[in-house]
Amino acid sequence: MFHTEPRITVLSRPHFAEPAHLPVQWMGESTDGERLAEFAGRLCYMSQKNPASRTTRDYLENIKKQGHGSVLEHANYSLLLEGVSRSLTHELVRHRAGFAYSQLSQRYVDESQAEFVVPPAIIGDAALEGAWKAQVTGAQAAYVALVDELMTRYAWVDDKVHRRKMAREAARGVLPNSTETKIVVTGNARAWRTMLELRSSEAAELEIRRCAVAVLRVLAHEAPAFFSDFEIYQAADRREAARISFHKV
Ligand SMILES: Cc1cc2nc3c(=O)[nH]c(=O)nc-3n(C[C@H](O)[C@H](O)[C@H](O)COP(=O)(O)OP(=O)(O)OC[C@H]3O[C@@H](n4cnc5c(N)ncnc54)[C@H](O)[C@@H]3O)c2cc1C
Repeated sequence: MFHTEPRITVLSRPHFAEPAHLPVQWMGESTDGERLAEFAGRLCYMSQKNPASRTTRDYLENIKKQGHGSVLEHANYSLLLEGVSRSLTHELVRHRAGFAYSQLSQRYVDESQAEFVVPPAIIGDAALEGAWKAQVTGAQAAYVALVDELMTRYAWVDDKVHRRKMAREAARGVLPNSTETKIVVTGNARAWRTMLELRSSEAAELEIRRCAVAVLRVLAHEAPAFFSDFEIYQAADRREAARISFHKV
């Protein structure tokens, strides 16, 4: 199977449990993650009475404007990314501060049925797609043949799980960057903002940029106040990109 879009699933979002002894005078619509960040921010000045009568979203807008991004670190969101390539995740995992990752292992998992992600630049060009498909399916056939041969060569290894791992870890060397993978990514809202700013920009590689724009839409739905200063637009290269107003809060 060939993927032309990432699949993004929200696995976890904050659940805010308000302490009865420190109630906040909430105003306006908000989600648990946003309330958690507001609660943390208000604790610093013990301003739970909300003297400026700010809605949660106005309060967080001001936090972003002032660059007090540390209160955004309390809200964590876990996403399952599927239909993304190994080359995308290789770039993604460079984002370290505030992120946790768990990715499908090519040493343990049999890739003889692996799927592939079509590079966005060649989608829709029949000749390029045909050439690319021939290469990736050829590479997969080479992988299957290598695993078979290595399983025979390592027949003396009694532990079958270990033998398979030895065969797969060597054979995966012929699999392309376009091989589909799955990864669980947990990040706090500040970390997500930094990653989305860098990877949704026009300078980013097309697949990770497409994924970042899709993640931005998902997270902006989860917690509008954390991402309201991002603007998604159609770039000169006729693809979506996003830009931010409050750089690196
Ligand atoms: C368009 C583009 C092209 C790229 N090209 C290349 C390339 O050719 N080769 C390559 O190797 N990488 C490349 N990268 C990856 C880039 O160098 C970063 O590794 C990646 O963007 C993660 O950025 P970051 O370190 O700021 O993020 P994070 O790890 O998420 O860190 C966020 C912020 O936390 C702070 N921080 C994090 N860790 C530390 C630390 N250890 N010490 C001090 N402060 C810290 C910094 O302020 C940092 O900006 C590219 C990235 C982009 C967006």
